[in-house]
Amino acid sequence: MAPRLARLKLLLAFSVGFAVCTACVVLTGASRSPVEPIPQSELDVYYPGTESLAPDEMRIVALGTGMPSVRPKQAAACWLVELGNGDKFLFDIGSGCHERLAAQKIPYDYLDKVFIGHLHVDHMGDLPSLWLGGVVMNRLEPLRIWGPSGGTPELGTAHAMELMEKMYAWDIGTRSGVVDFRGGELQVTEFPFDGINAVIYEENGVVVRSIPAVHGLDGAVGFILEWNGLKFTYGSDTIPNKWFVEHAKGSDVAIHECFLPPTLLVTKQGFAPQEALMVGTQGHTAPEQFGKVMAMVKPRLAIGYHFYNDFDTEPEVRDRVRKTYDGPLDLALDYMVWNVTKDDIRVRMSAVDEEVWPSPPLKKKIAPDTGSAIAFSKFTISGALPLTEVVQPIFDEVNEKYGTKVEPLFK
Ligand SMILES: [Zn+2]
Ligand SMILES: [Zn+2]
Repeated sequence: MAPRLARLKLLLAFSVGFAVCTACVVLTGASRSPVEPIPQSELDVYYPGTESLAPDEMRIVALGTGMPSVRPKQAAACWLVELGNGDKFLFDIGSGCHERLAAQKIPYDYLDKVFIGHLHVDHMGDLPSLWLGGVVMNRLEPLRIWGPSGGTPELGTAHAMELMEKMYAWDIGTRSGVVDFRGGELQVTEFPFDGINAVIYEENGVVVRSIPAVHGLDGAVGFILEWNGLKFTYGSDTIPNKWFVEHAKGSDVAIHECFLPPTLLVTKQGFAPQEALMVGTQGHTAPEQFGKVMAMVKPRLAIGYHFYNDFDTEPEVRDRVRKTYDGPLDLALDYMVWNVTKDDIRVRMSAVDEEVWPSPPLKKKIAPDTGSAIAFSKFTISGALPLTEVVQPIFDEVNEKYGTKVEPLFK
């Protein structure tokens, strides 16, 4: 009798459940209009440029979570932090991240603050693209860059930026007299790499501090951003270190590198075993080490990044992290988005508009003085075909439409 009664109860439970469930579907269906958009709160995906930030809210967007060798799925290190007060910050600007940044549909004037953790190409490779490409994409504000000193002046951020400006002399030369170049100005702040929780930025209620990292050479750091009672910590690249463990405590979100385990570096990436051990645990942080760090820090959310995050790597990385850490965890992919408030952390993936265009300029553009354009040699001028019969009508059309009086350079 008893088993039969149990079966009956089960059947009854199913029936009630089904009835309740059906009611739910009917109710939900009735509550959604067939002609109105889905409410923002029900969207499972983040659509850049469509959501307000609350005054107490922080949005973090992963724009590069992979390796120095970028691939369509993952660019190299880059993190965008957007605050409810309107401020936006970039932490690292690694190779390939600029197109992910473009997908956020943010006017470039707002993307004027970049903090570089160290001078590896996978943490600064897209800086020239943001700097000079940004000029063409309507940034009219100088680009502000913060980065650490090195063991010698030649290994510091200021020297690297000085050389970058020299390296792009030709690019800069082509733009003078052609575009409004105010956004081409670089403002570089080099701070000591050995500052411990040292304030390197303090504006508009936002404080950014640096902590030393142990990675590569002297001259690698991590960052801590605090605003409105929220704390974001980003380790950039480092092996586990005491400064991160001590100063990341109390973080709402703590991001630290989490490399592939050495065995996968051998089998998937062709490393020699010795190389995999050295790179994977002594130059970078293996998943078990990452877990240990987060177990000590205990953030509201731990985020690991800096590995090829695929269906056949993520489970092993996660298992290994779980040997040493059982707290809240995300293993980042490009376009992951976190909305952070004191009460909640919501994670979603971001939709990508592959045909995104740059936002219009926020300030009125100043027409360049064409007289300041670098002159070509007689040789190059001799090769230009003015094609006046087709070019002059184009000038006439634009001059008439916008009330300008511009003449072609080549006649
Ligand atoms: Zn590095
Ligand atoms: Zn790196």
